[in-house]
Amino acid sequence: MNKFESELKTGNFVTSECNHCNRVVWPPSDYCDNCFQKVSWRKISKNGTIIELSKKENDVFCISEFENKIRIMGKLDAQIDMAKPGQRVKLSKCLFNGKNRFFFSLENN
Ligand SMILES: [Zn+2]
Repeated sequence: MNKFESELKTGNFVTSECNHCNRVVWPPSDYCDNCFQKVSWRKISKNGTIIELSKKENDVFCISEFENKIRIMGKLDAQIDMAKPGQRVKLSKCLFNGKNRFFFSLENN
């Protein structure tokens, strides 16, 4: 289990960040993909934007973007006709149980 997964497991959504290049390293990695220095870790803002929506049976999934860079796929707690790309969401829960799992709820616009 890497640092990203072990933090997820305790409900923390974190990203790797390079203090030398002053940039977010995403997808998460122990080393910067630009200068190969060791990264530091910090929590990510829980406020994101819907990029893409999809529906599978009765569940709605979306790709949401955080901090204009970090894109993750998760389950949206809403009906598909209530949501549209560009809408604000909040990361309501995240966990790791062998797989990354993210849950979003719609922000009141
Ligand atoms: Zn770097």
